[in-house]
Amino acid sequence: MNMDFRSLARTIAETLADHVDRALDGAGPVLPAHDPDALAAAWADPFPATGEGPAAITELVDAVLTHSNRLHHPGYVGHQVAVPIPAAALVEASNALLNNGMAVYEMGQLQTVMERRVVEWMAGRLGWDADSKTGPAPDGVLTHGGSAGNLTALLAMRQAAAGHDVWTDGHREPLSILVSEEAHYCIDRAVRIMGWGARGAIPVRTDDRRRLDRAGLDAALSAARADGRRVIGVVASSCSTAIGSFDPIDIVADFCEEHGLRLHVDGAHGATWALSRRHRGRVAGIERADSVVWDLHKMMGLPTLSTAVLFRDGRQSSEAFAQEASYLFDGDGDGPPWWDIGHRTLECSKRSMSVTAYVMLRALGTDYFSEHVDRLADRTIEFAAMIRETADFEAAHDPDANILCFRHRPGGLAKGEALDEHQRRLRRTVVESGAFYLVQTGLDGETWLRVTIMNPATTREDLARLLDALRSAAPQITGA
Ligand SMILES: *Cc1c(COP(=O)(O)O)cnc(C)c1O
Repeated sequence: MNMDFRSLARTIAETLADHVDRALDGAGPVLPAHDPDALAAAWADPFPATGEGPAAITELVDAVLTHSNRLHHPGYVGHQVAVPIPAAALVEASNALLNNGMAVYEMGQLQTVMERRVVEWMAGRLGWDADSKTGPAPDGVLTHGGSAGNLTALLAMRQAAAGHDVWTDGHREPLSILVSEEAHYCIDRAVRIMGWGARGAIPVRTDDRRRLDRAGLDAALSAARADGRRVIGVVASSCSTAIGSFDPIDIVADFCEEHGLRLHVDGAHGATWALSRRHRGRVAGIERADSVVWDLHKMMGLPTLSTAVLFRDGRQSSEAFAQEASYLFDGDGDGPPWWDIGHRTLECSKRSMSVTAYVMLRALGTDYFSEHVDRLADRTIEFAAMIRETADFEAAHDPDANILCFRHRPGGLAKGEALDEHQRRLRRTVVESGAFYLVQTGLDGETWLRVTIMNPATTREDLARLLDALRSAAPQITGA
């Protein structure tokens, strides 16, 4: 079959450019809402034995665009996923075409060097000095997502702190980490994957702003020890998922130093605040962490998935998966050389995500990313102020990050199931209208609306319209 790649490439590039233009202009629904069963029934055709040809490609790419959640639409204020910088998608296409899987140097030579440069830059922005005379240079790897990244960092923590070679010999005693009750669920999952069971991740009670504090850490450590668990470290969240609260890293780091514990910062969403000019204080002390996970597909505007796992002592980057696979690596007994990075990730082959990050950092400059995080953070603070000025909405918290939970409470409607159901219905109505995409979340058993402002195209006016849209969805529902 003749698939004219050049003409397809032109057609698809035009289609994508049109999609972005129209989405940015606010055309069409943000989310064309479909019932899953109806959608599955509409797409039940069997695959043909004889291909439909290039027309199927353009048609189906169109169909996917039509049915997708339009993240570039200014009304997209939903999940914590980057609104990709459009040019980054073109770099991704070139990565896909080359398919240099990076498991070994020869399967991604420049890609590997670019990964090193990206990782060095990120480590530097955390405040880790590559020329430090006080210790070994930082290092790290890119991996597919924060969940894989946190598992990698915790495996390295275990290997560094267990006091014996757990990778080879298995566990000798029940190990635990302390982790905020607000932490992302992937931390608990990573702990269970490591075989530490349900009591491996000990939840630490947070303060009234859902952040770790000294009292909670002290109590959790005592309880863990009384329970016969050996605690080896603490995971701090930068920031938490539900409301985007940043744990005070300096306080956690002091606690860790006092008790000889290791500190991992889950900065999947919020490590990008290290680039901020106006809000860097949120991650003050992050340079004291032993390891940090930092997603590029959240606040750095790159396509999913793309995550850095960074280690202050770079040697730990080789300890997470301390196994030898000599047929893959050019080892000489001293551990694999820096360019064999496959031994440091969960994956064997991986996408060359380094290229996209490297190219965008060169093309846009590092200031762009500082400005990006500040813009989104400032807009969220403005939105919270806007909500305070209304009589019928209330915010659950002051925003630390670009996440805000709030609810509609007309006439001071009493808390309870009716108020919760009111939020769910408002959300459904507004999402089905296509004007906005926002989500909902549970906080202390109550239902709240939740926005994450990810799109630099979302303006103050868009957010004012969101409140109007929610408000005008209300009367039809409550009959008020
Ligand atoms: C998003 C997120 C994760 C999970 O990362 P993925 O890249 O989605 O796997 C973990 N921790 C935090 C704090 C997050 O925000």
